[in-house]
Amino acid sequence: MALRTSIYKTPAQLRLMVEPGRITADALAAVRENLRVGVTTLELDAIAEATIRAAGARPNFQLEPGYAHTICASVNDDVVHGIPNSRLLEPGDVVSIDCGADLGGWNGDAAFTVVLPDPTRTALVTEREALSSATERSLWAGIAALSRARHLGEIGAAIEDSLEADPQADGRAYGILEEYVGHGIGRSMHEEPPVFNYRVRGRGPAVKPGLVIAIEPMVVMGTIDTRVRDDDWTVATADGAMAAHWEHSVAVHRSGIWVLTADDGGAAGLAPFGVRPTPIP
Ligand code: MG
Ligand code: MG
Repeated sequence: MALRTSIYKTPAQLRLMVEPGRITADALAAVRENLRVGVTTLELDAIAEATIRAAGARPNFQLEPGYAHTICASVNDDVVHGIPNSRLLEPGDVVSIDCGADLGGWNGDAAFTVVLPDPTRTALVTEREALSSATERSLWAGIAALSRARHLGEIGAAIEDSLEADPQADGRAYGILEEYVGHGIGRSMHEEPPVFNYRVRGRGPAVKPGLVIAIEPMVVMGTIDTRVRDDDWTVATADGAMAAHWEHSVAVHRSGIWVLTADDGGAAGLAPFGVRPTPIP
């Protein structure tokens, strides 16, 4: 029987995760700069791949068996795992981009959502932007919780509480997907432990230096039931309601936390929570 590797990285291993995190952030920033009405997600995929390869890294999504692309692009009612395609992005589209880089066998993983402007449908855009910002805020609430948590279960509780305090305009609560969750990250993009985006029974593993996790709330305007499209990858809402997805890879170290996939280590996102990230020593 193979020995289970620890979910806690050594200080030297944490340092090796800084660069792949930064490259992941750069790739997503390059995608974001080019994300507008009329571009295709295949074009965005090429931009992400060029950014990652120029940094001497590899797109780690291509290491997933059967997946040939650098990003996942999930539009509108697609939640996650959307395959880049040649459809022109349209006004009002909700576009979630997920991406990761592998450098020297260490991984980064992050995602963001944007709503493309539509001057003819401002109410619809406002409602969709509220979905994305509530999801992003819940991600930062989860990361802030990590900075003081004793056990991993506190992160999901913080994400759920954040979304509960941040309902839709008509007062309905957003839905948090339960079939897909965050994860540990390191030598592999997906490692133990699972990181739930909602309250679960049990406290979960101890939060202590060396823990590196990808926190990634997937949030919907309707019910949380999903289906996988005929391409065998794309996860879409069963009711066709819009979805958003935000993700960061975050390291816990002996002096604090550091958001590996944010160019400022998470300083801006954590400021509203009174948390200051600390670079990995
Ligand atoms: Mg991801
Ligand atoms: Mg992930």
